[in-house]
Amino acid sequence: MPKYVYRFSEGDKDQKDLLGGKGANLAEMTRLGLPVPPGFTITTDACRAYLHDHEVPDELAPQVTTALREVEEELGRELGAAEDPLLVSVRSGAKFSMPGMMETVLNIGLNDESVEGLAAAASDERFAWDSYRRLIQMFGKTVLDIDGEHFSRALEAKKGDRGVNLDYELPVDALKELVAEYKTIVLEQAGLDFPQDPRVQLDMATEAVFRSWNTERAHIYRRREKIPHDLGTAVNVCTMVFGNMGDTSGTGVCFTRDPSTGRSGVYGDYLINAQGEDVVAGIRNTLTLADLKNIDRQSYDDLRAAMRKLETHYRDLCDIEFTIERGKLWLLQTRVGKRTAAAAFRVATQLVDEKLITMDEALTRVTGDQLTQLMFPQFADSAAKELLTRANPASPGAAVGHIAFDNAEAVERAEAGESVILVRRETNPDDLPGMVAAAGVLTARGGKTSHAAVVARGMGKTCVCGADQLDVDAETKTVRVLGREDEFVLTSEDVIAIDGQTGEVFLGDVPVSDSPVMTYLRRGLEEALDRAGDVDTRELVTSVDRLMRHADKVRRLGVRANADTPDDARHAIHRGAEGVGLCRTEHMFLGERKQFVQNLILAETDEEREHALAALLPLQKGDFVKMFETMNGKPMVVRLIDPPLHEFLPDLTELSVKVAVDRANGVLDPADEQLLAVVRRNHEANPMLGLRGVRLLLTMPGLIELQVRAIAEAAVERLKAGGDPHPEIMIPLVGSVRELQIARERAEAVLTEVSGKSGYKLDFPIGCMIELPRAAVSADTIAEEADFFSYGTNDLTQTTWGFSRDDVEGAFFKEYLEEGVFGVSPFETIDTRGVGRMVGLGVERGRKTKPGLKMGVCGEHGGDPESIDFFHQVGLNYVSCSPFRVPVARLEAGRAAVFFPEDDGEE
Ligand code: PEP
Ligand code: MG
Repeated sequence: MPKYVYRFSEGDKDQKDLLGGKGANLAEMTRLGLPVPPGFTITTDACRAYLHDHEVPDELAPQVTTALREVEEELGRELGAAEDPLLVSVRSGAKFSMPGMMETVLNIGLNDESVEGLAAAASDERFAWDSYRRLIQMFGKTVLDIDGEHFSRALEAKKGDRGVNLDYELPVDALKELVAEYKTIVLEQAGLDFPQDPRVQLDMATEAVFRSWNTERAHIYRRREKIPHDLGTAVNVCTMVFGNMGDTSGTGVCFTRDPSTGRSGVYGDYLINAQGEDVVAGIRNTLTLADLKNIDRQSYDDLRAAMRKLETHYRDLCDIEFTIERGKLWLLQTRVGKRTAAAAFRVATQLVDEKLITMDEALTRVTGDQLTQLMFPQFADSAAKELLTRANPASPGAAVGHIAFDNAEAVERAEAGESVILVRRETNPDDLPGMVAAAGVLTARGGKTSHAAVVARGMGKTCVCGADQLDVDAETKTVRVLGREDEFVLTSEDVIAIDGQTGEVFLGDVPVSDSPVMTYLRRGLEEALDRAGDVDTRELVTSVDRLMRHADKVRRLGVRANADTPDDARHAIHRGAEGVGLCRTEHMFLGERKQFVQNLILAETDEEREHALAALLPLQKGDFVKMFETMNGKPMVVRLIDPPLHEFLPDLTELSVKVAVDRANGVLDPADEQLLAVVRRNHEANPMLGLRGVRLLLTMPGLIELQVRAIAEAAVERLKAGGDPHPEIMIPLVGSVRELQIARERAEAVLTEVSGKSGYKLDFPIGCMIELPRAAVSADTIAEEADFFSYGTNDLTQTTWGFSRDDVEGAFFKEYLEEGVFGVSPFETIDTRGVGRMVGLGVERGRKTKPGLKMGVCGEHGGDPESIDFFHQVGLNYVSCSPFRVPVARLEAGRAAVFFPEDDGEE
């Protein structure tokens, strides 16, 4: 019989697949002897079985009974009993944290009888009835799918009747009335009585949590976070402890270090006399842990001890949800905490310095994506700014845009190309699409652990929250700025700027400046430190530097850049590139030079052709001289011309019209007519699969010779000047060894000739791109003629899948991503099961013929973190990517070496 239920005392932190993150960590905390309320976890297996069969597996009910009875025995209380009832919470908990995306129901076990029992046991009637009305509200919303507005309206009306502002000011009799009204809402809206049987409540809530895996918002979140849709969620059933039992109770969230800046030192939010989700929902403004220390020293000390224990045990920043019930601390959840990119780098090196982790482990704690986030600009210190207000800096970065008041507006205006800031009183999980679309998020309520803050940090989106000087009215689409002498109101027309580092909100456009990490990457540590304005920035750039240096030390993959111009090449070198992995040469034929290429195409005699080639040679040679100068001493792969011929010719339709009109007007130039004939002859239905790459090189006389001569003569010029050029000549789109052989013979003939004339040895490597399935499959034969391979995974993706990127990305990729045909676009991250296997075949077969054959990748995947892992594992020698991504590639290559240390890819 499958085991679907685990007591907290049975599992551990490594069982996240089965118990979900929350369940596994509750089990781990229980094992550590920390104060966790007793409970059990229903596994993700049970959820998957439910989602598959649309019904709860038969074995589940008896297993829940057994676990529940064990909990009841341990506590000497019974679920929903008339006297001193045991109450439980039912919470979702998937393998990967999906904050606020799925359901939770608290206070399960309350009914018309047990509410009296709770009142007696707690000696607090108000508390008991408040708990009961909360149960009906949550149960109605999440289990019975009743619009929450019904309950909120009834609550607001009741507060109005009684002349109170806050929920907890309602007296008992009002709460009793509210319970009756809520029950009527349930009956009217769901067509059934609110279930009085505690076990029915528990089972229905469990099923609702299973179902919540498939809500639209959960789907959107998973797509964004690249979480597979088939994992399912676990369900945690946990004894209720109450933070809303008066002023000696409360609930909070804390972090063992600041998850926003990475500053060391504990950090958290606490709400007195509050339950469950009140903190995360950001409904009321919160106290700090320092306040807790003054209010309840014992609980504070216990919490600090638990935080230290957890951080030492997990050897990482932990976040913890806790409740204090009448002066007794309980831990409800912990996990390795989400953090900003800056915090990730700083915390990683802090933990090294505290001797909790090694530098290798520190590398696994930061990602290329986080480094990318740090490379984005910030507001310029010197810029003139009009400060509107200051609130909690919840997620870093600098964002500027028009105010958008709701999801629909944010999405619509962002799609129209506008930059918007989503401004809300507070956010909830339904705001996810707006948060995705907006450049930044600003809320009027909530602390750093509010929904807006947690989700924005996860997305790397700038966020400021808890700006309580702003009165946001989504109905009238206005923001009133309180506390100013003038009556100041903002609308959708206004532009604001938010600073996620400082929490400042400015009126109007504010110019942005480079990030300190970018300064470090461009100009080195010393200058970055000199320019750093504060201690936090200094610690951050130092951490980045240490981790980058360690990545460089351990990585096996080389990192090169795709650079066509000296400027790009310079940027790449500053960011740590060891060479150029792809210098595309097509731009050397465009602009003013296009005319010479047209002359070449139109040439009818050898003389005309020679003439056209002779005009191009000095120009191209000049380009190469500059590139070799910049790349002095470093390798540079020069790819010979790749695009289809028609790119150098006028557009067919335009020229046809011109010729027709000119003919009708009797002014037709015969040259145009001749050109049109050539354009027609060269027109292709599928240029991507037509006359391009090596095919063009072989069929257009003189082309290879021109390019290789330009390379060779440029190299000689540099050598004469004492330079150290290292070109590597690459032939694109090779499918057959014979193509490469012919190209090679022609190239070598030129190299030999220029070498003979100049007296310099010019034995440059000649290799090819592997970007066709045929090339990958026959890599063993192609290797006979190649000194190196470079995988062109852009084309290899197109040709393996049989689609052209320009045609398909806009056409059906959205649907394919939604339907799960792709988890992520195969142009972004290498499709390891298809295109990746092609690469693998090429590596294996190529090296069978030539062990140690040097191989790199120059498609865009060369700068993609996940793909870099794959290229490391498959045994490539280097990745080549855009200059901006070079640092990311260095870091990811280092991480890959740590994650896959046993890799024995040949050098
Ligand atoms: C490739 O196909 O991966 C490649 C680098 O070449 P291009 O993008 O120029 O076609
Ligand atoms: Mg290509």
